[in-house]
This record gives sequence, structure tokens and C-alpha cells, in this order.
Amino acid sequence: MSDHYDVAVVGGGLLGCLTAWMAARDGARVLLVDKDQVNQHASGQNAGSLHFQLEYRMVESGEEAARVAAEAMPLHLDAAAMWARMEDEIGEPFGVRQTGGLMVAENADQVGMLEFKAELERSWGLDVRTLDRSELDVVAPYLSPAIVAANFSPLEGKADARIAAPAVARAAVAAGATVRTRSRLVGAHRVPAGWDLSLRETSATGDERAHTVRAAAIVLAAGVWTTELGRVFDADLPTVPLALTMTVTSKVPRFIPHLVQHAGARLSLKQSLDSTVLIGGGWPARLMRDADGSPAFDRKHQLIPQSIAGNARAAVKTVPGLDRIPAVRSWVGTTTVAPDQLPLVGAVKGAPGVFVATGGSAFTLGPSFARVLTALISGRSSDVDLAPYDPARFAERSA
Ligand SMILES: Cc1cc2nc3c(=O)[nH]c(=O)nc-3n(C[C@H](O)[C@H](O)[C@H](O)COP(=O)(O)OP(=O)(O)OC[C@H]3O[C@@H](n4cnc5c(N)ncnc54)[C@H](O)[C@@H]3O)c2cc1C
Repeated sequence: MSDHYDVAVVGGGLLGCLTAWMAARDGARVLLVDKDQVNQHASGQNAGSLHFQLEYRMVESGEEAARVAAEAMPLHLDAAAMWARMEDEIGEPFGVRQTGGLMVAENADQVGMLEFKAELERSWGLDVRTLDRSELDVVAPYLSPAIVAANFSPLEGKADARIAAPAVARAAVAAGATVRTRSRLVGAHRVPAGWDLSLRETSATGDERAHTVRAAAIVLAAGVWTTELGRVFDADLPTVPLALTMTVTSKVPRFIPHLVQHAGARLSLKQSLDSTVLIGGGWPARLMRDADGSPAFDRKHQLIPQSIAGNARAAVKTVPGLDRIPAVRSWVGTTTVAPDQLPLVGAVKGAPGVFVATGGSAFTLGPSFARVLTALISGRSSDVDLAPYDPARFAERSA
């Protein structure tokens, strides 16, 4: 045994980096491990939307599903406030702009849904209001005339997913954390002082070696690998994997200041600080699977041409000016949601000292997830009620 830590964070995406930074800042001895590189997976592949309104996927299944999803609003509000000060606290910029977000509607049904949603969100404290067409003509003249209304939240915006997690990782190291990449957690053994963790480390030349570290607390920030990693601790952490499509255009003079989402279609788009337009919103890609049907997250997933075309059509229909702008690249990212669309955040049942957070928009919500996890690992209780996000809720429901 060579290394002892207060906290071992497994996963070098945005969530893991934020948790490592916050815990190290609190004075803990922190180890962050990633089986690959920092920011190699969902945190570096995503759209960088900071969306605090309920997303389309949360409202498309009806009002009851929206009410359940709204239970995560305290985490949304917390994250919105934390994003606003994060670049200052981290000490370097990573493209955070909270210049407002619009969820747009094209017909009376969608407007009705927006009004219901805005009322629900306001009841949880989110600043959101419904704009009519004449207001949109002033605020967002780039929208298609077919858009009749939109919900506007001034808190929404974007960050640059390519550079956010690496910046936070640097801040974690500056605060004293140790980061080990190419270091995969493959086993865990309970000891009186915490856990002995077996790591399989791969050198740049491909040589492998086993390494063991001891940590009092463990944070699982493993994105799509959460369910698999739960098994290392004999824990059932159900998640639903998704492979999604993203497209980026060539640069175009700035004309879209907002995050734009659609109330009746899978669409999110925004113009990045380097003037490209990022188009996504949940169009499926082909998730690779092993022969036994289990997801093969370490393989390269495949784009579906119909998804790229459908996503582009939805974008042009909403923002006609995109019609003239060439798309330069599409890619697949993988992410995960919990079966009920609420995140999993909290202690892992049956594994003392092990905590987890994942599910849904863990880029937007990364700061609030990390703050909760940092409180839990240091023995403080969370100031957010974690009951709706209890990682054990599915087992308890089926018992
Ligand atoms: C195309 C796409 C667009 C998206 N757009 C948005 C958006 O606009 N806004 C938003 O909020 N969310 C968005 N999301 C979701 C968001 O990207 C994810 O929720 C978030 O990035 C997850 O961050 P994470 O740090 O939890 O996981 P990840 O970034 O996936 O990091 C997990 C890390 O854990 C490591 N790991 C796993 N197992 C082990 C192990 N055994 N040992 C060591 N390391 C391990 C992995 O290598 C990985 O680096 C999008 C997702 C996709 C795919």
C-alpha cells in the first residue's frame, strides 16, 4: 500500500474535476483517477448548454413527468448561481456566458405546455416568463416567423465543454489534488479506515501495472460507466445509456445570443464564442453493444445520417438563417439518464463512504452535484433535500 487519501474521485469529467477541486479546496487529500484522459468522454463531447428550464425530454411525457422532473429544480438554481461565479473562482475563463435561454413554441399546444411549464418552474423559484411574438421580434429577431412564443430564462446560457473540465482539473491540482489518468478502478475492498482501491494503470507505451490506494471516501463520477462501477461496490445503480448526435457549423458572424431549445422537438442550439453554431438536442446515434447486448462504451459509436439530417432540419426551421451556413462536423457522445429522468445523487446504499452523482444534464448540474458530494464526503449534510435523487430508490420501489 503506497497511497492514502481522504477522498478518491473516480472519473475525470466535469463532475469529477469539480468534486476534486472543491474537496481539495476544503483541505482534503484528494486523488482523481480516470481510466482515459480528463474530459475525454461526455463532458468534452457535449453541447455546453447551461439549461435550467425543464428540457423537452422532461416534458414530452406529460405533466406528471414534468412535475417529477421539476423536483430537481433546487439543483438547477444552485448550479445557475455557481456557474455565474465559477470562472472567477477557478481562475481562468472557459466560455461561460449566461445571456439567457429561449424554449420556443410553434403552435397552441406547445404554447400551452410552455405556460404550464413556466408556472411549474416559477413555483420552484426559477426566473422564467413567456414571451409573445411581438416581444420575440425585439429580443430574438433571428427566430423563424413560425415561432409564436417562447419561455425565456435569463439564467441560461453556455460554457465551452472543450475546455471547462481541464480548467477545473488544473484548479484541483493547484489546490493540492493528485490526478492520475490511464488509471482504471477495477476493484474495491472494504477496510476499517475506508476502502482499498485496485487500479489498473496503463503507461503511454501500453504497459499495464496494478496499483492500490486507500481512501476514506469514494466519489463515483463515472458518467455512463456508473452502473458498471456500482458493481465493484456490489451496488445497483441503474442508468439508461444514450448515444446522441452533435453537429457544428463553420464560423458565421454572431447573430444568436441565446441558448435556443424547442418545446415540441428535439433541438438545442447556440452560437459558441468562436462563432460556430452548435446543434444538438437529443437526436439518437447508434450505441455499440457487445455480443451479449450490454453497452460497449469503450467502442466508437456510430452516427445515424437520418438523425443528423433531422436535427439540421429542426435547426433551420427554427432559425432560418442557418440555412446558408455549412455544417463542418458531426459526432457522437454518450451520456446517461436515470429511468425516472431525475439524477442519482447521494450515498450508495450498502457501501459506507461511497457516494455517486450522475444522470441527465450533469454538465449544467455538475457544480451543484459536486457541492452536494463535497458536503457528504466531509460528513456535512446537504442543504438540498436529496430524497428525490436517492440512488437506492429503484430497488426500494421494486421491493
Ligand atoms: C451529445 C451530448 C450533448 C450533451 N449536451 C449537454 C448539454 O448541453 N448540457 C448538459 O448539461 N449536459 C449535456 N449532456 C450531458 C453531459 O455531457 C453529461 O451529463 C456530463 O458531461 C457528464 O459528466 P460526468 O463528469 O458525470 O461524466 P463524463 O464526462 O462521462 O466522465 C466520466 C469519466 O469517468 C471515467 N471512468 C469511468 N469508469 C472509470 C473507472 N472504472 N476508473 C476510472 N475512470 C473511470 C471515464 O473515463 C470518464 O472520463 C450531453 C451529452 C451528450 C452525449
